[in-house]
Amino acid sequence: MSLMHVEGTTVERAGRFGRVAGALRAALGLAVNVGLPPLCAACREAVASKGLCPGCWSKLSFIAPPYCERLGIPFPYDPGPGVLSMEAIADPPAYQRARAAVRYDDVARALVHALKYGDRLDLAPTMGCWMANAGQEVTGAADAIVPVPLHWRRQWARRFNQSALLAEVISRATGIPIAHGALKRVKATPQQVGLSQSERALNVQGAFRVPPEPKGAIAGQKLVLVDDVLTSGATVDACARALLRAGATSVDVLVFARVVAAARPPI
Ligand SMILES: [Zn+2]
Repeated sequence: MSLMHVEGTTVERAGRFGRVAGALRAALGLAVNVGLPPLCAACREAVASKGLCPGCWSKLSFIAPPYCERLGIPFPYDPGPGVLSMEAIADPPAYQRARAAVRYDDVARALVHALKYGDRLDLAPTMGCWMANAGQEVTGAADAIVPVPLHWRRQWARRFNQSALLAEVISRATGIPIAHGALKRVKATPQQVGLSQSERALNVQGAFRVPPEPKGAIAGQKLVLVDDVLTSGATVDACARALLRAGATSVDVLVFARVVAAARPPI
C-alpha cells in the first residue's frame, strides 16, 4: 500500500465525515429551531431573536435623570443639580452613589429570574450593556469592578454567580478590570425576600469579608459594586462597608434593577 493511497483514503474519510457532521449539525440546528423557538424572557411568547417581545420591551422602565445624585432614585420632576432624595438624607448608605438600569417591576423581575433560575445566561450581555449605559457616572473614574459574591454553597448549586456574569459584560464594555476574589461571602445568609428593612440589614451583617490577600489590591481603589437587584440596599451596604474597611477610597453601586417606591418629591 503506498503512502499516497493511505493519504487519499484519510482525506476522503475526513471529507465524508465532514459532510456527515455538517448534515448532522444542520439537522440538529433545524430540530433546535423547530423545537425551541426563542422565548420572551418575561411572558414566554415566541420572539424573533431578542430577549424580550416588543410588548414587554415597551413595558420595561429605564431609569434616566432627573434622579437623586446619591441613590439614583428617579424624581418626578427636575429639582436642579445636586438635590438629594429624602432616603439619601435620612439614612445615608456606606456607598457613595447607586445607579440602576431599570425599575424593578414585573418585566425586570422576570428578566432577573430568567437569568438567575431559568438558564437564560444569553440575557446577560443585553442586561449588562444597559447597566454599563446607566452607570457611566460611576464607572467614569473607577479602578475596578467588584461583583457581589454568592456564598460558595449557593454558587455551587446555581453553577454561576449572576452578578459576576453582569460584571464581566460591564468590564468588557468599559475596559475596567474586575477585582476577582476581592470580596467573599463568609455567612450563608437566608434569602432577603420577605424580610423588613431592618431584618435585611441584620441578615447580612458580617456576611462579607475582604480576604487578607487582595486587601492590598483594594486599598486606595475606587470601586464599583455590581449586583442584579437593589431592594433595601442592605446587601450592597454591607459589601461597601467591608471594602471601605479594607481601605477602598470609594465604593459606588451599579445594579440592573432597583426598587423604586411610589413617587415622592425631592427635598
Ligand atoms: Zn413578552
